[in-house]
Amino acid sequence: MKHACKRVSQLTSESFDRDLSLAEKLQLKLHFAMCGLCRNYHQSLQTMAGIFEQIREHDLKQDIQLPIEAKQRIQSVLEKEK
Ligand SMILES: [Zn+2]
Repeated sequence: MKHACKRVSQLTSESFDRDLSLAEKLQLKLHFAMCGLCRNYHQSLQTMAGIFEQIREHDLKQDIQLPIEAKQRIQSVLEKEK
């Protein structure tokens, strides 16, 4: 892996944890324009992040739809575990 690619892949994964500075975003954009490998890597990461986001939203909805009775049952099981 080229040095620039290493830096870019690091920035790419960091971009999910923090907001990149303008200079860093520019660096990524410029590099993506030249390097298909990093562009693909970034795209697949974004796709995965999107899927995780959907799963999380789905889980939240499931949680809301869970009947109170079921919640109580889960709670009583958890209580016994203690
Ligand atoms: Zn690259």
